[in-house]
Amino acid sequence: MIIHTLKRRDGTVIDKATIEAFRREFRGQALQSGDDGYDKARRVWNAAIDRSPGLIARCVNVADVVSAVNFARAQNLLVAVRGGGHNVAGRAVCDDGIVIDMSVMMEVSVDPAARTVRVQAGALLCDVDRATHPHGLAVPAGVVSKTGIAGLTLGGGIGWLSRKYGLTCDNVLSFEVVTAEGEITTADAKTNADLFWGLRGGGGNFGIVTSFLYRAHPVSTVLGGLILYLRDQAAPVLRFYRHFMTTAPEELTAYAGLLSTPEGLPVVGVMACYCGDLSEGERILKPLRAFGSHIFDAIEPIPYQAMQTLADPPNMDGTHNYWRSTFLKDLSDDAIDLLVAHGNLAQSPLSRTIIQVFGGAIGRVSSADTAFAHRQATYNIGIEAQWTDPDESKTHIAWTRDFSEALRPYSSHGYFLNFIGDEGRDTVREAFGANHARLVELKTKYDPANFFSLNQNVEPRR
Ligand SMILES: Cc1cc2nc3c(=O)[nH]c(=O)nc-3n(C[C@H](O)[C@H](O)[C@H](O)COP(=O)(O)OP(=O)(O)OC[C@H]3O[C@@H](n4cnc5c(N)ncnc54)[C@H](O)[C@@H]3O)c2cc1C
Repeated sequence: MIIHTLKRRDGTVIDKATIEAFRREFRGQALQSGDDGYDKARRVWNAAIDRSPGLIARCVNVADVVSAVNFARAQNLLVAVRGGGHNVAGRAVCDDGIVIDMSVMMEVSVDPAARTVRVQAGALLCDVDRATHPHGLAVPAGVVSKTGIAGLTLGGGIGWLSRKYGLTCDNVLSFEVVTAEGEITTADAKTNADLFWGLRGGGGNFGIVTSFLYRAHPVSTVLGGLILYLRDQAAPVLRFYRHFMTTAPEELTAYAGLLSTPEGLPVVGVMACYCGDLSEGERILKPLRAFGSHIFDAIEPIPYQAMQTLADPPNMDGTHNYWRSTFLKDLSDDAIDLLVAHGNLAQSPLSRTIIQVFGGAIGRVSSADTAFAHRQATYNIGIEAQWTDPDESKTHIAWTRDFSEALRPYSSHGYFLNFIGDEGRDTVREAFGANHARLVELKTKYDPANFFSLNQNVEPRR
């Protein structure tokens, strides 16, 4: 068995006594290669990521986060920060350095009268929904229940409620943060307002968020579900979807996708969620349900908590994934034809092409008001290769890359931070858009040494 040691950034190995001294002051588990639980703790959602950290510090409280940050700084360690482990490029783990793992800190407490929710940074979306749903409340978040709330929020966060209630980051009232200097601080509209601005869309660049205070909204039962058509209907369905969403009220969010059924039948689908009055929703959704000849229609009133799990099955743990995404200039007929042609070339029945609509409350916030720049984006395209046999990786990665290259003329050259994989520095920069220069200033103030570098990185001014 290979034992992976903890190394400094300069490659020197940290001795046992130094690690033992850290362990004595750290309340959570500090796992090293060879320890029980190490292999499970180094795994992330994307099975294509196989990294071996020197130490995984599973924090149980804020003091542990401070200890881990101070240890990492004193020992000049490479630092990865783990929330839910869903980042597709595996930014939550590193080789040789330390993972500051928040996943044990997953408490959620709801104040129903104030309609606020305090969430620790290791919580998954399902933890938040489980706590809020009994109160008839919801925090706008993403669409797959095991995604980490922390990474999702810091990158903006879109989901079924965003067109009505804004991005996840728009619903944060306050962050508790441990800075690169190991200081515990608050960022809200009054305290450290610059940091508050940067944490809403600037990713994990400025510190480790230990908890979030969110505004929640009265959402209980929604009208939601999936409609499927055979894949040869893809072009007319996507044209109809574009037309339908152009006039849709902001209570309605619907994503379209080229995917396959569990039996491997290629289909085109629309998943919808209407979060307003249910009888009005029935009326709004009627044209979609009446369009063409679908093979499956399961749109019905369902608890919001159940809506939040509808997209789980195709996103199960343990698959290999390689994703790219881009905002489109416009979902033109030519763009649709290209999406269908390349979507049909997918070599795995698990791979899919996703079309996500923006609009509504997302665009009512000015792009300068938070670090999330692409407020006016209309459609985001996700090219998501997924497979199970590691020997097939080259084929599926090539599909995503070729597709993404072909889509370039239709791209607005803006990108959604949360879906960036390994596209490189220019794409990360474009994801921050017009806010990049301000983020560089903020990074220079809060993390001049780029201690938090394993993220969609904003490099500090040298
Ligand atoms: C199946 C799937 C479905 C998804 N669906 C959606 C969706 O519907 N909407 C959407 O907006 N996004 C979605 N995403 C993207 C997702 O939001 C991002 O990948 C996000 O980074 C995941 O958060 P996490 O905590 O699980 O990340 P992790 O992989 O744990 O961490 C990713 C990065 O986030 C930062 N980070 C995590 N926790 C903290 C913290 N406490 N403090 C500071 N920085 C931290 C770090 O920089 C870290 O490198 C989806 C991803 C997957 C794989």
